[in-house]
Amino acid sequence: MNRLPYIRPNIQRLQAGPVNPFRLGSSPSCVEIDGVPVAELARNYGSPLFVFSEKALREKYREAHRAFSRRYPDVQFAWSYKTNYLNAICRVFHQEGSIAEVVSGFEYEKARRNGVDGSKIIFNGPHKERADLERAVNERAMIQVDNIDELLTLASIVRDRTEPVSIALRVHLQTGTHTVWSKFGFNGDDGEVLQIIRRITTLHNLRLQGLHCHVGTFILDPENYRVAARRLVELAIEAEKIGAGQIRYLNLGGGFASHARLHYQYLPPEQTTPSLDRYAEAICETIIGLWPAGRDLPRLYLETGRALVDDAGYLISSVVAVKKRHLPSQMQTAMAAYGKSAAVMPQGNSRHALVLDAGINLLYTTAWYQPKILPARPCLDTPEPTTVFGCLCMNIDVIREDAPLPSLTTGDQVVLHPVGAYNITQSMQFITYRPAVVMIDSERKVHVIRRRENLDYVQELEAIPEHLATRTAVSRPEPHILAVA
Ligand SMILES: *Cc1c(COP(=O)(O)O)cnc(C)c1O
Repeated sequence: MNRLPYIRPNIQRLQAGPVNPFRLGSSPSCVEIDGVPVAELARNYGSPLFVFSEKALREKYREAHRAFSRRYPDVQFAWSYKTNYLNAICRVFHQEGSIAEVVSGFEYEKARRNGVDGSKIIFNGPHKERADLERAVNERAMIQVDNIDELLTLASIVRDRTEPVSIALRVHLQTGTHTVWSKFGFNGDDGEVLQIIRRITTLHNLRLQGLHCHVGTFILDPENYRVAARRLVELAIEAEKIGAGQIRYLNLGGGFASHARLHYQYLPPEQTTPSLDRYAEAICETIIGLWPAGRDLPRLYLETGRALVDDAGYLISSVVAVKKRHLPSQMQTAMAAYGKSAAVMPQGNSRHALVLDAGINLLYTTAWYQPKILPARPCLDTPEPTTVFGCLCMNIDVIREDAPLPSLTTGDQVVLHPVGAYNITQSMQFITYRPAVVMIDSERKVHVIRRRENLDYVQELEAIPEHLATRTAVSRPEPHILAVA
């Protein structure tokens, strides 16, 4: 008789949110950040303003480190610079014990200036300049080779050296729910990696020491890591069989989810974002379970970015205009085309709308996520779906299509959260100055960690050719005046 396979019951606590705010007749608000009033921050440092909580950064790092070190004897975190490379942020993580993970010569330089020794830098990325590779070799950085051209460049750099140089290979894998990021590294499923490893054994002075896989980003299902860890262990065993020596470290990259909310995500992040323990369990159990008995376990590197920094970052912004927005019926389709949620579209033809003093040039991640937007003062009236526009002169500058907000007026402040990952490194200067960034320390002291931009800063690299430097106008013929018909 055919029987269905037995599935172990899985009991998960359902975390109910607060009582429906629509019925309660009041809106959630964010009056202070780490004990410092939002109004005071905006008054002292201007609006908009990025705010980071040092306490939240340190607590999250410790939570992540604990989750892994409880389960695995040799764990090392490497701060993913591109997620947020403001020096103060990097230094918090370095103080906590994190080394650096960089993906370009620029980031490598930045990590060195932050006092990170070359041997404590993991060098990733699909484009490493020859000069950067030479430096990384000299300073014993952990180079994670992305492609065959890079491997051959390295081989030529190390050919005449007296000592062998250690490298790792970046691998991409089919891990389940996530699309394979095949842009990066070598294919770990079809034998390509093994071919490359065989090739390395024939190259003078290169030793394979590690295998790296960064599955992707915002991975909501920890099972992807179970698959990735299993494949890396299998590849490590095969690598040794074909004469590459023992693999000393496995690097599982980053990708753990923060408490951001994707477009079209129905449940709140509190219910969808796995705990760091669940990621740690998937990775550590797998490696410990499959690593050959009697062999030292490999060191485990993690390059967690957004899960450590996203929730610690806020953007304070001010309402500069209140509008009604007309919504023609084709709007839903149009919005869907922009990838913005049209879920709470009222049948009536208009909606509340606000304009903020910050735009999507500061909030690049709103292309994928919907930040929470909270008023900075307690509000008693009922939240209504509100379109939140940014301040740019572009129709696509929509921060949220339908944020539930009480009625606000010009001058009111709002707090956007979480926005700590990628927004600052990917922000662009456009028609206005980028805002200051402050960090609140554990004693509630506020520190400016990046000043607001000004005209001198923005124009610093510009040059005016000599023939444009004088004030005299070029003589030109009189303009032809069109006759009025
Ligand atoms: C971007 C990146 C990370 C960090 O990813 P998160 O999703 O922010 O955790 C880690 N490793 C590599 C190679 C990356 O490119």
